[in-house]
Amino acid sequence: MRYSQYFLPTLKETPGDAEVISHQLMARAGMIRKVAAGIYDYLPLGLRVIRKVENIIREEMNRAGAIEILMPAVSPADLWQQSGRWQEYGKELLRLKDRKDTEFCIGPTHEEVVTEIVRGTVNSYRQLPLNLYQIQTKFRDEIRPRFGLMRGREFIMKDAYSFDIDDAAADISYDRMYQAYRRIFKRCGLDFRAVEADSGAIGGSFSHEFMVLAETGEDAIVSCDTCEYAANVEKAELRAPAGSAPAPSQPLAKVETPNLKSIEDVSAFLKEAPGKMIKTLVLQADNDEVVAVLLRGDRTLNEIKLCNFLGCNHLQLADEAVVQKVTGAPSGFSGPIGLTCRVLADQEVATMSDFGLGANEANYHLTGANYGRDFQVEAFVDLRQATAGDSCPRCDGKLEAWRGIEVGHVFKLGTKYSDSMHAVVLDDQGKERPLVMGCYGIGVGRAAAASIEQNHDENGIVWPMPLAPFQVIVTMLNPNDEAVFAAGENLYQELLEKGIEVLLDDRDERPGSKFKDADLLGIPLRVNVGARGLKEQSFELQERRSGERIMLPIEGAGAKIVAQVRAALDAG
Ligand code: ATP
Ligand code: MG
Repeated sequence: MRYSQYFLPTLKETPGDAEVISHQLMARAGMIRKVAAGIYDYLPLGLRVIRKVENIIREEMNRAGAIEILMPAVSPADLWQQSGRWQEYGKELLRLKDRKDTEFCIGPTHEEVVTEIVRGTVNSYRQLPLNLYQIQTKFRDEIRPRFGLMRGREFIMKDAYSFDIDDAAADISYDRMYQAYRRIFKRCGLDFRAVEADSGAIGGSFSHEFMVLAETGEDAIVSCDTCEYAANVEKAELRAPAGSAPAPSQPLAKVETPNLKSIEDVSAFLKEAPGKMIKTLVLQADNDEVVAVLLRGDRTLNEIKLCNFLGCNHLQLADEAVVQKVTGAPSGFSGPIGLTCRVLADQEVATMSDFGLGANEANYHLTGANYGRDFQVEAFVDLRQATAGDSCPRCDGKLEAWRGIEVGHVFKLGTKYSDSMHAVVLDDQGKERPLVMGCYGIGVGRAAAASIEQNHDENGIVWPMPLAPFQVIVTMLNPNDEAVFAAGENLYQELLEKGIEVLLDDRDERPGSKFKDADLLGIPLRVNVGARGLKEQSFELQERRSGERIMLPIEGAGAKIVAQVRAALDAG
């Protein structure tokens, strides 16, 4: 590709809405352009990277025995009504009507559509296992689209769906995808971890997320410093702490705490560490149930654990009127004594005694409170969020905390969709059985963005060879110099012939601004062709990542560059 004839609209200024580095650099390098919130054009350079990620995914999916199809982006409401998700999915689902007023949605995921294919075509266990995948545009009307391709509304996903005769066979399909994902992200040059994850609204029995480690990641993950255990904090289990609560030694006493509502304020006032206090959260579930939850004062509620326990999809802090109704006091003074709703406690509370908590009376708290003597709870449950320093649930190690970008997700679905949509096959006894399913997603654009989060410096992107939009840039320092032009052109042609992806910077611009652009675009190898080098029969070869430069004799330069590209690809 000749730069002078290419379409590479780089930006000098960073767009104001680009909060994370990958978004800033993708915009500045002319890879993407915003059309509307969470909706982007893929410009040529961006598209080349997207295709690289797709090709790696495609090769590894095919190698793992999955078969590529392409389903429509638009799917009929009817299918979603059969699975029950037309009602369940909420506002992320973009719904529309055709001219006959028939309802459709733009697929945010394709369990329904693929299940419909299989139930209409597969009827015997002999046709299994089957794993169908596609690389396709999805739409999710995200509440907060941001970070460029990382959290878009329209985005490209690889989604695969496996169908098996029973649980054991489905576990094999799951493991095959898990291993394929490891290979895919390794080949993309990403530093990642597979972590245990919550199955969320998609349903199913277990799942893993593939997390790219990055400060800007939206997910919090924990991993054990001793064993292999790693999990999204949404999921991370905690063991019940050992031992029981010491016997009460203090009487229950009421203390005036004027206008002090937060744990921090109250604990400072009472001169008691937040870890010696109990906070009482009054929450409202989507089924309108109200529940109070007790947690150690310095802990964070894990809403997903609570949702799973209650069997609801969403929770929010109860509004003031509800708090008044169940506690008899304004929020900020809630406690477990005398509540008129369900009361649950995190398991850690069972080991505490003589603690402070809200008095259910405006401007008052209680001290010296004790479970059993002063109040009861319905159950002690693992309800808090894991943090760094917690004990590993599997061994004696300690948990460490990380931030991650979820680039892939594998789910064991079970029979959720085959039951509701009646997708069955006959087994070897001639008996009807629901198909056991798995589903497996990768965010293609998110993976590309995650790569930039891990591979950049102050001058721009530093692509790992496997994802680089071009492998080599040949920069003619002065293309008006005939010898320079001829030597650059020769090398360009030679590299093209040898199958190298090369961008020839033949623009009539100052070398400094060409170098700046090359650094911004992040092409791994740059060859500078200039009059001074030519006098010594040499090019200058510079590595983007290390900045290292060497003089390369013209004789044999092409072969050396090809070898270097191949070595970097093989290392990935
Ligand atoms: P998240 O928790 O980040 O919203 P999710 O759990 O909703 O992700 P899945 O339904 O598992 O995501 O989708 C499969 C993959 O698609 C994700 O692992 C992620 O890489 C990608 N993905 C999901 N939502 C988006 C989005 N809004 N923009 C870009 N990629 C996305
Ligand atoms: Mg999501």
